[in-house]
Amino acid sequence: MVWFKRDLRVYDNPALTEAMKEGPVIAVYVLSHEQWDKHDVSPAQRALIVGQLHSLEKKLAELNVPLLVKVGDCFDSVPGTLARLIKEYSVTSLYFNREYEVNERRCESAVEQSVKLLGAEVFAFHDACMVVPGSVLSLKGEPYKVFSAFKKAFIAGYGFKARPVAYFPGSQPVIDVSSDLTELQCIGYDSEWLQQWPAGEAEAHDRLERFMDVASRDYKATRDIPGVPGTSQLSPYLAVGALSTTQCMTTALMANEGLLDGGNEGIACWINELIWREFYRHVLFHNPEVSMNQPLKKETDLLPWRNDQADFQRWCDGNTGFPIIDAAMKQLVTTGWMHNRLRMITAMFLTKNLFIDWRLGEQFFMRHLVDGDLASNNGGWQWCASTGVDAAPYFRIFNPVSQSKRFDPDGTFIRKFLPQLASLNAKDIHQPSLAQAKKLNYPEPMVNLSESAGRTKLLFKNLTQPT
Ligand code: FAD
Repeated sequence: MVWFKRDLRVYDNPALTEAMKEGPVIAVYVLSHEQWDKHDVSPAQRALIVGQLHSLEKKLAELNVPLLVKVGDCFDSVPGTLARLIKEYSVTSLYFNREYEVNERRCESAVEQSVKLLGAEVFAFHDACMVVPGSVLSLKGEPYKVFSAFKKAFIAGYGFKARPVAYFPGSQPVIDVSSDLTELQCIGYDSEWLQQWPAGEAEAHDRLERFMDVASRDYKATRDIPGVPGTSQLSPYLAVGALSTTQCMTTALMANEGLLDGGNEGIACWINELIWREFYRHVLFHNPEVSMNQPLKKETDLLPWRNDQADFQRWCDGNTGFPIIDAAMKQLVTTGWMHNRLRMITAMFLTKNLFIDWRLGEQFFMRHLVDGDLASNNGGWQWCASTGVDAAPYFRIFNPVSQSKRFDPDGTFIRKFLPQLASLNAKDIHQPSLAQAKKLNYPEPMVNLSESAGRTKLLFKNLTQPT
């Protein structure tokens, strides 16, 4: 039996490939409402997972592998559900790919114990990282806390540590078990999201191919401009496992003459981002507190974050009076995705100008992102809030107006998501005057940028150099 989780694909799936060597195989996916609610899985991602399960069922059917989807109320029910299926189908061994979040690790341990008690064997694999977490360590045997050092060691060891792409398994003889996705019908999800983010491995591969053919070579120049489609938008597919980072990296290396660094500067820059993703997964693996709402820099938990619900709501609603922030927040809630540059600008604004706890922002993002992923989301938030490993220094605070002028110079992005400002010229659109704002029914800036940034710097400074 292959237990699918966030690895909803048949290509490059080590657990599936290995299980099918032994065969015959049945596949199972267990989901619980409680897990989705507790983990703040967004409506967009719920829809993508449901869509991906339907697509996976078809792909597995081509291999004569039936897929059973089981829905339970709570996360703790997963081991019992798997144990029942193991007995019912006289399963001799369970195969799965590992996850690294605390709850997921606990669940895997409970599953392993119960499966072994039933006399079946367990085979677990690594698919979510390019190299096994825990295998990129400093000479002192410690995990890296700085991205550049991690990247250097990752590249040095890649040749012998990287997991190869799992080969595509051949189909098995037809077995006397049919796929059953009926329980999925009781899962409420909004299928409209699937129009924006169509499910399927084919979709993910098409996007990867298109990006490599069309945009990758200009990526270094265009990736920071939210008004142009300069990035791959593959993150949703990586988040649900319709695609693996290994597949992305292998494709990039083929296009870059095998070079992890250097070669074409656009592709090298994209590879760098894949390594950021890997870095945050390794950080999560080594620091269980990432899964438990704690900052990686312990002392920052003493910061007196403001608990101002009204200000937080204005940020959530895109009513801050700063067009680039408001347009970004509209992009998030209407499309389920936000451009990376804008994730940084909005997160810095919440934490450094409004001085609101990064955990609230992290949760709001998870609740709306189609690509919500604990390791990357937490890594991004702790970077912006200066509470994490290799975080932005607390005194380097983005000014959203300057960022807007630099990365959305003619206001293309702002105009798209804030049509009420579309009539403003390219100079005014980044910071409408009070008269313009009033006329266009747009809010006044909710905060003085330099004063608020100054207050935050002082609070951080006092933390590091107490008087
Ligand atoms: P591309 O630019 O095409 O990059 C390719 C892939 O590299 C991405 O799909 C992603 O997997 C990875 N990647 C790119 N940039 C980063 C980065 N800065 N950190 C880690 N991995 C990266 N990414 C998520 O996948 N899920 C999240 O929940 C998430 N939350 C974030 C929150 C904040 C506050 C910040 C600053 C960043 C967050 N990111 C998150 C990282 C990044 O913004 C997205 O991965 C990226 O915007 C996805 O778009 P893309 O697929 O077009 O990326």
